Amino acid sequence: MTRALITGVTGQDGSYLADYLLAKGYEVHGIKRRCSSAGTDRVDHVYEESAVVGARFFLHYADLTDCCSLTRLIHQIEPEEIYNLAAQSHVKVSFEMPEYTLDTLAGGTQRLLEVVRQTGIRPRFYQASSAQMFGNSPPPQSEASIGHPCSPYGVASLAAHSLVVNYRESYGYHASCGILFNHESPRRGETFVSRKISRAVALIRLEMQQKLLLGNLDVRRDWGYAPDYVRAMWLMLQQDRPDDFVIGSGESHTVREFVEAAFAEVNLDWHDHVEIDPHEFRPMDIDHLRADASKARRRLGWEPRISFREIVRLMVRSDLTKLRAATSASKHVTHAPSRPPLRA
Ligand code: NAP
Repeated sequence: MTRALITGVTGQDGSYLADYLLAKGYEVHGIKRRCSSAGTDRVDHVYEESAVVGARFFLHYADLTDCCSLTRLIHQIEPEEIYNLAAQSHVKVSFEMPEYTLDTLAGGTQRLLEVVRQTGIRPRFYQASSAQMFGNSPPPQSEASIGHPCSPYGVASLAAHSLVVNYRESYGYHASCGILFNHESPRRGETFVSRKISRAVALIRLEMQQKLLLGNLDVRRDWGYAPDYVRAMWLMLQQDRPDDFVIGSGESHTVREFVEAAFAEVNLDWHDHVEIDPHEFRPMDIDHLRADASKARRRLGWEPRISFREIVRLMVRSDLTKLRAATSASKHVTHAPSRPPLRA
């Protein structure tokens, strides 16, 4: 049974990756940082399912800003594969918290790599790099595109990416970076633009909200489906040689197109509900991201399976279902869900 460690397991991608690896028979360990609420909503179901087939999913308290906790865990688990997905991953927030963003993403990656080096174990290592590190390099962006990041998050992602490449070249690690373009799902955090739109559309449809405030509708992004993208992460670590791969659909759409498609799902005209809020604009933004993922198609045999329209539909329908369930649950007594046990 292969032992994997996922940092960022409580996030969108980490939770889908845990589903994916458990289905492949892995033993999965995830790190969870201390916060005042449970924060395990996205993986509660993983724990419950794993309990049925025998406990193969474990959560541990640790933090990428805390070297001691990482050292303890790597010694304890001795993972064969590490997926480093933890980050302050919100671009707009990174302008407000640049130091923290750099410390978690770039500093955290450096700490994890160095702890692994010092323990002497040789796990395969996956780094969650981001297309944000390309900045305004002209589309389509490939592995060869020159980085000119447009945000502290993009800078941190480029630094983390470069560190992983450096450890690979200096110490011969099997360390690969997936340079992922935007990917969404019903588990996307509610403050990211795709989920902000899908959730607001559901609230407006249910007459629980009137308006949706957004920033720049003209930026173009390459949007994919998160479960498709975690499959690419796993494929990278199964290759004989480590390498870096761009992962994206090759299609781009504006935020306006996302808005139009989402409102169309519930037969509403977006013009009646969307307002532009200058506070939502970033100090600097990337105009156009569109992936050239031909290397991943050729070498990994990876293809996206879910289209842009399907992603929008899945997200709007999921938010409608969740809101309807929450409204009806608030009228009834409910049972608290069980939580994953923490091995601290
Ligand atoms: P996400 O939903 O924001 O999840 C981030 C995860 O990192 C959460 O589990 C979070 O824990 C954890 N985390 C944050 N700070 C931490 C710290 N100091 N120590 C330990 N854990 C910490 O992000 P995602 O969408 O799943 O993305 C996964 C990774 O891929 C991120 O590195 C992101 O930058 C990168 N990426 C994402 C996209 C995308 O479109 N989704 C594209 C390219 C790259 P809490 O749950 O406690 O907050």
